[in-house]
Amino acid sequence: MHLSRFPRLHFAHLPTPLEPLPRLSKALGGAEIWIKRDDCTGLSTGGNKTRKLEFLMAEAQARGADIVITQGATQSNHARQTAAVAAKLGMACHILLEDRTGSKDPDYNFNGNVLLDFLHGATAEKRPGGLDMNQEMERVADRLRAEGRNPYTIPGGGSNTTGALGYVNCAFELLGQANDRGLVVDHIVHATGSAGTQAGLVAGLAALNAGIPLLGISVRAPRDKQEENVFKLAAATAERLGCADAVRREQVVADSNYVGAGYGIPTPGCIEAITLFAELEGILLDPVYSGKGAAGLIDMIRKGRFPAGERVVFLHTGGSAALFGYTKAFDFGERVRALATQTRGREAA
Ligand SMILES: *Cc1c(COP(=O)(O)O)cnc(C)c1O
Repeated sequence: MHLSRFPRLHFAHLPTPLEPLPRLSKALGGAEIWIKRDDCTGLSTGGNKTRKLEFLMAEAQARGADIVITQGATQSNHARQTAAVAAKLGMACHILLEDRTGSKDPDYNFNGNVLLDFLHGATAEKRPGGLDMNQEMERVADRLRAEGRNPYTIPGGGSNTTGALGYVNCAFELLGQANDRGLVVDHIVHATGSAGTQAGLVAGLAALNAGIPLLGISVRAPRDKQEENVFKLAAATAERLGCADAVRREQVVADSNYVGAGYGIPTPGCIEAITLFAELEGILLDPVYSGKGAAGLIDMIRKGRFPAGERVVFLHTGGSAALFGYTKAFDFGERVRALATQTRGREAA
């Protein structure tokens, strides 16, 4: 299999680092935890969508597009990365933001990723939750075509067989890094949403016959539905790669026990995971995806699922920009109250 046969642009900072997390591993007392830093892919605070966009934007350019349209939840990391890449390539970017959480918090609605979308020059429209967002996007594309534009639409999360090639590439990269340093990887864990990341990894690992089990922690869909979405896309991706029979259904494993109240609503385990990674390793997770993925990993280590003597790689998919849309999810207690009192004192003086 030869990925260079697929059109691709090169703007991601690759390879991303693969590093041990000794303090977190010690605190949890189970498997040795390693992290694959796909939060460090380069543009606009990075994240997993950048790898997908290397292939998607190459397709957009090949079709002569002058504007890209994509969609996501209000605090979409995918939308922000698309806006950043479009800016770099000199293309316009239009975003449809779905109100999936119903939050009225101004930080959620205008700070974090939304602030960055606008900084990169993107335009945006809002939609109520629950619509068929890819269909909404096609309507907007039709409108733009009627105005003489040439839009290229990217599905939510960049999750089609083109975008998934970015994670086929990540599977190759990760296996190469592990082989170079003699690291035996017993498991890979990451947050899974629109399915492209897991599907690409499944297809890539299967094509290499890596024999490394992969676990997706769902941030939205129930297990059956998530696995079905991932399997369909992994199989279609493998077919495009010319190894259609490589992917087997049992290689697709998702766990939906860490979704909590719903997509984009942080759980106590998610907040704990964000705090542990920040305080023990200096690494920022996010409240929608990587925080829930890490919450699953931490809980499973505590329950003995990944015991001492094993090595598990956590794929950090990015998202820290969303922290600034979720300031109210954190309570720093006395430390914040002390500062607040001192700030008020100075104002009064
Ligand atoms: C989009 C996203 C994911 C999920 O990746 P999918 O390919 O949509 O499954 C995980 N983490 C972060 C930070 C994301 O933005």
